[in-house]
Amino acid sequence: MNTKTQNRRFVVIGGVTAGINAAKAVKRYDPDTEVVVLEKREFIAYDTSSLPYYIANVMEDHRQLIELTPERASQELHIDVWTRHEAMAIYPAENRVIVLDRETGEEKTLSYDALMIATGGVPIAPPIPGINLPNIFQIRTLADGINLKQYMVEHAPSKVTIIGGGYLGLEMAEACNALGMEVTILEKFGNIMGSMGSEITALIETDLREHQVHLLKDVSLKSFEDVDGKCGHVMTDGEQHRLETEIVIIAIGVRPEIALARGAGIEIGNTGAISINTSSQTSIENIYAGGDCTEVTHLVSGEKTYLPLATTAHKQGWVAGRNIVDPGCCVFKGAVGTSVTKVFDLEIARTGLSLMEAKRLGFEATTATISADSRVKTYPGNETITITLILDKKSKRLLGAEMGGREGVAKRIDVFATALYNQMTIREIAQLDLSYSPPYAPPWDPILIAANAGIKKLI
Ligand SMILES: Cc1cc2nc3c(=O)[nH]c(=O)nc-3n(C[C@H](O)[C@H](O)[C@H](O)COP(=O)(O)OP(=O)(O)OC[C@H]3O[C@@H](n4cnc5c(N)ncnc54)[C@H](O)[C@@H]3O)c2cc1C
Repeated sequence: MNTKTQNRRFVVIGGVTAGINAAKAVKRYDPDTEVVVLEKREFIAYDTSSLPYYIANVMEDHRQLIELTPERASQELHIDVWTRHEAMAIYPAENRVIVLDRETGEEKTLSYDALMIATGGVPIAPPIPGINLPNIFQIRTLADGINLKQYMVEHAPSKVTIIGGGYLGLEMAEACNALGMEVTILEKFGNIMGSMGSEITALIETDLREHQVHLLKDVSLKSFEDVDGKCGHVMTDGEQHRLETEIVIIAIGVRPEIALARGAGIEIGNTGAISINTSSQTSIENIYAGGDCTEVTHLVSGEKTYLPLATTAHKQGWVAGRNIVDPGCCVFKGAVGTSVTKVFDLEIARTGLSLMEAKRLGFEATTATISADSRVKTYPGNETITITLILDKKSKRLLGAEMGGREGVAKRIDVFATALYNQMTIREIAQLDLSYSPPYAPPWDPILIAANAGIKKLI
């Protein structure tokens, strides 16, 4: 059924990634639908993933991160953007949203025919003494990035403590190191990068040492010590460190922002995020959702999971918009959890399940690790790539891949992501016709070498 009609109104809550994709899709496929985007903050449609590079001055001006301003959205796409407007409540039975104008304090009611919840994620803040001191930062929004950069320019801190050794903590460590700061990373667990295997995390740890970044593992935060109204020391449990610091950056993950959805009676999944179907539809027919406030099906495990990544947010948003115009026209089946991170000179990537995740899910999992050349050995620029494959002994299928190296990693991981999407066995991956030319790859690409090592492991 095609629902294109005149005088429909589509309201989007949240104007960064998923929300803007949905708004654009509706306008592209049904220009007659009125589209209103509510964004409680100042900026819309920016690239959050570039924030560490903005802090490091790779991108000097915050405007370089902005893809679309409210003015251009209105003039070029005919999307009506209400910035500094916060959705306070949704009344699904009446198709109404209550909106607060944060500048004037005025409350407005907005009716809708279809609604999109794209409220994103909220950075997790540890509830410990001193958390509100003014030199403690979290980085989630463009405004957070601008504030942090301004603080760094005004105070020129020389020592930073980063809480969390995940990808964001590592990206921020590189950014702060580039600005000349002494960097310490605190990681609560014995492993950085979540559940990634030690073959790859060992490469990262070596790289951190080479760049004089201190990494303290297995230490948990106890408190932030107030020295003249600022955090002067970070106190830890365990080994009882008292770390002198001039600035703290917390990067310990995000949780889905679901208050509005919960208040509207929309189903929340076991992951704690909004439950949606493959059309990005929630449990209420004309309310859609996508991005970091929602869960996604993991295509390797088949389970619902929480994977707050821009890759998924873009697709879920676009699919929501397409389905609002033409219900049932397209689907987003799910994700395999592919990501890549730059850590100084290293490219670190993963897709699918880690060994720990696979075992937890009940797979009879094993690993195969290889190191191989990124180009023909004698061609200048050749570097070593390390690959760990996670394999299912029973089905002989690939369950996941982790890679690290100084070049050639970022896009090679996508071959494994494609293999996972298609549930390929390790023997099928070993048959792939991958390109070869000395400046780019050896005739036996590291992917094929890894797949053959995987076959041997499964015999
Ligand atoms: C520093 C950093 C680096 C990252 N790097 C990568 C990367 O390299 N690759 C990758 O795939 N992902 C990366 N991510 C994750 C990626 O940025 C997110 O997955 C993506 O931005 C999620 O988009 P979203 O639209 O769901 O939510 P958000 O970007 O969180 O946007 C939600 C918006 O909703 C607004 N909002 C919330 N509640 C209301 C309300 N009641 N009324 C009105 N507005 C509201 C918020 O103000 C916010 O602007 C990174 C994230 C960070 C923080």
